[in-house]
Amino acid sequence: VEKVRKLTTEYLERVLTNSRPYSAQGKVADYIPELSKANPQALGITIATCDGQVIAVGECDTKFTLQSISKVISLIRALEDCGEEAVFQKVGMEPTGDPFNSIIRLEALNHHKPLNPMINAGAIAVASMIKGKNVEERFQGILSLLKTMTGNPKLTMNEEVYQSEKKTGDRNRSLAYFMKSTGIIETDVEEALDLYFRFNSINVQCSDLAKIGCFFANQGKLSNKQEELVSADHIGIAKTIMLTSGMYNASGEFAIHVGFPAKSGVSGGILASVPGQMGIGVIGPAIDEKGNSVAGVHVLKTLSKDLFLNMFRT
Ligand code: GLU
Repeated sequence: VEKVRKLTTEYLERVLTNSRPYSAQGKVADYIPELSKANPQALGITIATCDGQVIAVGECDTKFTLQSISKVISLIRALEDCGEEAVFQKVGMEPTGDPFNSIIRLEALNHHKPLNPMINAGAIAVASMIKGKNVEERFQGILSLLKTMTGNPKLTMNEEVYQSEKKTGDRNRSLAYFMKSTGIIETDVEEALDLYFRFNSINVQCSDLAKIGCFFANQGKLSNKQEELVSADHIGIAKTIMLTSGMYNASGEFAIHVGFPAKSGVSGGILASVPGQMGIGVIGPAIDEKGNSVAGVHVLKTLSKDLFLNMFRT
């Protein structure tokens, strides 16, 4: 029987070194011009444990945009604003084998409900439900939720990425207008899209993702002693949907090999949460054809195996 490895900086450095070569198997996303500027070789990992330890290695200071990772945060905001029942009247809970920006099931299935909140259609529907008197106020609501979860008051939006998203967001526009036509979106479509583009464009670092993962691991508390800042039920829902749909159409495989909730984005970031134990933030901009950081997934697979983190195998 292999000995349980301890989570130390030296150990994490080794994981980083062994995972680095996998970046060569991926490519930086270039369908949005501003994303193509990322360094494909960068790899950074930050782990924040529930007992307050923080370990960071590699290029963990790299700034990147949340992209699809924001879908988890907007889901939680909408759940807090409208409640579980109202949210899932407009968006499903089921995984999909289709790409993140797919349009095909929107007409064919499920009373035109997007399959889940982690695909673009679902996230735009979720954005349309977030409360506030205008886009700015609704955006600030998300930003302040993120500041709470990360303990980082300096979070801002990346204006260049936002403009790039807006300019090239034709597919997202078509998803949104289709949903308006079927009544899934009841509020202003352009506002829902604008919010969605803004959420995607929030700048973060690995440490922010690790802290969010830790907040999730603590069921909506900053540490296990503190008060609940977000409903534990809503955090639970978000983590469940991350497990079933967080890694695009590779979520099933990831659940088998890694076995804890995670959400990735096309910027190459991954937010992961090991219940009761730790949050993990990884950045590795070279992604595979499904949208997941190749080196980043290798990091999480290794950690899961070495530290016995798989929820279903321990
Ligand atoms: N900017 C992305 C979009 O097309 C988000 C994609 C992602 O990270 O999956 O909506």
